[in-house]
Amino acid sequence: MNTMDFKMTIPVRDSYDIIVCGGGIAGCAAALEGARHGKKVMLLEKSTVLGGLATMGLINYFVPMCNGRGIPICKGMAEEFLRLSIKYGYDTLHPVWKESNVDAPADIGRRYDTAYSPYIFAMQLTELLRDAGVKLLFDCIASYPVMDGGRCTGIVTDSKSGLEFYGARQVIDATGDCDIVQRAGIPTVDGRNFYSYFARQISIESCKRAVESGQAHRAVMTISGGSANLYGGGQPENIPLYWGTSVENVSDYLIRNQIDMLEKLKKDDRLFREVTTLPMMPQFRTTRRIDGDITVHEEDKYRHFDDSVCAICDFDRRDYLYEVPLRSLTRRGFDNIITAGRSASADGYAWDVFRVIPPAILTGQAAAAAASHAIDEGCAVADCDIRKLQSVLESENVMIHFDDALIPRG
Ligand SMILES: Cc1cc2nc3c(=O)[nH]c(=O)nc-3n(C[C@H](O)[C@H](O)[C@H](O)COP(=O)(O)OP(=O)(O)OC[C@H]3O[C@@H](n4cnc5c(N)ncnc54)[C@H](O)[C@@H]3O)c2cc1C
Repeated sequence: MNTMDFKMTIPVRDSYDIIVCGGGIAGCAAALEGARHGKKVMLLEKSTVLGGLATMGLINYFVPMCNGRGIPICKGMAEEFLRLSIKYGYDTLHPVWKESNVDAPADIGRRYDTAYSPYIFAMQLTELLRDAGVKLLFDCIASYPVMDGGRCTGIVTDSKSGLEFYGARQVIDATGDCDIVQRAGIPTVDGRNFYSYFARQISIESCKRAVESGQAHRAVMTISGGSANLYGGGQPENIPLYWGTSVENVSDYLIRNQIDMLEKLKKDDRLFREVTTLPMMPQFRTTRRIDGDITVHEEDKYRHFDDSVCAICDFDRRDYLYEVPLRSLTRRGFDNIITAGRSASADGYAWDVFRVIPPAILTGQAAAAAASHAIDEGCAVADCDIRKLQSVLESENVMIHFDDALIPRG
C-alpha cells in the first residue's frame, strides 16, 4: 500500500481526568462510574444517541442476569441499568423480580431477563449522564490516542469542529472495536461475524394485535436481511464471515444486507406494512478485542481470579459462571488505557459470554473504578490495589466472586 505523511497543527481543548471513547452501554456505565468517583469525565460518541448496540443497534434485551436457579449474579450497575431501561417503557421481567432483586425460588423456571424500549432507554442514558455531570460530545469520533511511550496524553477527536486534542489522565476504550487500544499500539485480536441484520417494522396485523392486547410495543416486529444465528446456523454458503474492522468490510456487510432486506420487502403489499427503523450501526457481535494481560477461555468457567472485578453468568447455559479479571481489560506497559465492553480479552465461547449487555455494563463500571483508583493512587491502571478496588465495587453491589455452592456437583 502507498503511504503519505500528513501533518497538521490542531487546537488543544480542555483536559479531563477520564475520557471514555464510545457511548455504548459499556461506555455509559464507565462515564457514570467515573463521575460518581468525583472525576472530570468526558464521553465521546460518534453517533447521535447513547447505548450503542443496546439501543441504536436494536438489541433491546438484557440477557439473563441470574444463574438459572433464581440467584442474581450480574448485579451492580447492570441491575441499575436494567431497572432504568424499563422505568418508562415496557418490560418482560418475571413478576418475582419486578419489585426487587431478591433471590427467587430455585424452580422459578424463568431467568432474570427483560426486553425494553431501546429509544426511551437511550434518552434516559443521556439524562443520566448529563445529570451526573459528564461532558457529552455527540457526533464526535475518538480518532487517535496521542502516545508518549506507554502513556496516552489525550485523544484527537474528529467532529464538525474539525480535528481537536483533549488531554486525559486515563482513557477508557469502549468503542466496542478497540479503535483506541489498537491505535495506541496495544495488541488486539480480530473476531468473526455471521451474516445477520435486522430492522423493525409494523404491519396492519401487528397494530391490530397491539390494540387487542393494549400493549403498544406489540405492534413492533422484526424483519431481517441476513438471518444467521449466533452459532452460525443459517449462514449462507456463498457469503463470507465478516470481521468488521475495515471500511470496505463494514460497507460490504451493510450493502448486502440492506439489499437482501429490500428484496424481501418488494414482495409485500406496500401499504400493509411500514419499516420503522433500520439499525443505526453494524450489528456485529465480535470485531476486535484487546489481547489483554490474561485471556479468559470457556474452560475458565468456575475459576476464581484473585483480581476478579465482577462475576457474570452464561446467558445460554444455566449454572455456568465466570469471573472477569482486571487483567482481561488491561495490557501492561500501557499505563493509562483500559478497555470495557465487548472488547474484553476472552476468546471462543467465553467471548460470547463476556460481550453481552450485563457483563459489558459491569466491565464499564469496573474499568472506570480502576481508572479513578489509578488517578487517586498515581499508579498505572493495571497496578491498582486490587483489594481496594474490589471493596469499592462490592460497596456498589457488584458480586466479585461467585459462591462455590453455586457450582453444580458431578
Ligand atoms: C445481532 C446481535 C444480537 C445480540 N443479542 C443480544 C441480546 O439479546 N442480549 C444481550 O445482552 N446482548 C446481545 N448482543 C450483544 C450486545 O448487544 C453487545 O455486545 C453490547 O451491547 C456491547 O456494548 P458495548 O458498549 O461494548 O459496545 P457497542 O454497543 O458496540 O458500543 C460502542 C459505542 O462506541 C461508539 N463508537 C465506536 N467507535 C467510536 C469512536 N472511534 N469514537 C466515538 N465513538 C465510537 C459506537 O457508536 C457505539 O455507540 C447482541 C449483539 C448482536 C450484534
